[in-house]
Amino acid sequence: MKTNTYLAVICICLLTFFSFNLYAIDHDKHNVAAEFQADTANVYHTLLMDETDDLMENHPADDIYNRIWTSAKLNPYQTSIDDLNDSIQIDLSSYTAPLAKFVRITSHFGTRRFRFHYGVDLKLQVGDTIYASFSGKVRIIDYERRGYGHYVVLRHDNGLETVYAHLSRVLVSHDQIVCSGTPIALGGNTGRSTGPHLHYEIRYLGNAINPVKLIDFASGTPLEEDYLMTKEISFYHQKELKALAAALFYKVRKGDSLSVIARRYGTTVGAICRLNNISPKRIIRIGQTLRVR
Ligand SMILES: [Zn+2]
Repeated sequence: MKTNTYLAVICICLLTFFSFNLYAIDHDKHNVAAEFQADTANVYHTLLMDETDDLMENHPADDIYNRIWTSAKLNPYQTSIDDLNDSIQIDLSSYTAPLAKFVRITSHFGTRRFRFHYGVDLKLQVGDTIYASFSGKVRIIDYERRGYGHYVVLRHDNGLETVYAHLSRVLVSHDQIVCSGTPIALGGNTGRSTGPHLHYEIRYLGNAINPVKLIDFASGTPLEEDYLMTKEISFYHQKELKALAAALFYKVRKGDSLSVIARRYGTTVGAICRLNNISPKRIIRIGQTLRVR
């Protein structure tokens, strides 16, 4: 009996010991599982972060544009021509003309009397299909009643951005990936436009370049497959831009003449005529705006 009692006590002790240990092992297991879950969550979180980073990197030419991708502004980059590299190689080999049939340029790039025309106007018929010039991504789809009308801005893999304005219909959506030649819109006459045309701009880091320096619109092909963009040649119009920024305008009043206005602003009749592209013999009207500087 005595031996049996000892054996029973030993058995109970052993059972208690093992069951406690089993609990401990199970408890540890639970902790490990919880830690594993937390770790997985961290890993997952990190993966998500990486994916977000990847998505950001997926915007075309993100390195050039310092990861700025916004539909809020045409030129959010605040990079002046002076701050650009002296020369940049741009691959134009995959260019597709914005219009299947080129008719003519109705207005060139350059200074207007009161503003700068940052692109070329290409004649079209309302409803003509407009094609993406290069592969890339849709950055802006917007409407400006007094300006571009309906317009689209694309960022391209080659670092350029192109603007298509006065559209009647947009065929793409924001952030959509496009290939060179993807139909993106239909031509129109919306916004500040006096007849159906496509206002077409080529920009680099927000700074417009004269499209005819890159593209032969008559043949619908680039002038060179690899375009060497340089500050001096590609942005030759910088002086004009600066002059326009410092320009001064005057509204003609009763009793004014060109010589009176010239004297008032310390300039000459000839200079005013050149700025306004008018003849010195031209009779000026009250209320007419003249550029005097
Ligand atoms: Zn235009």
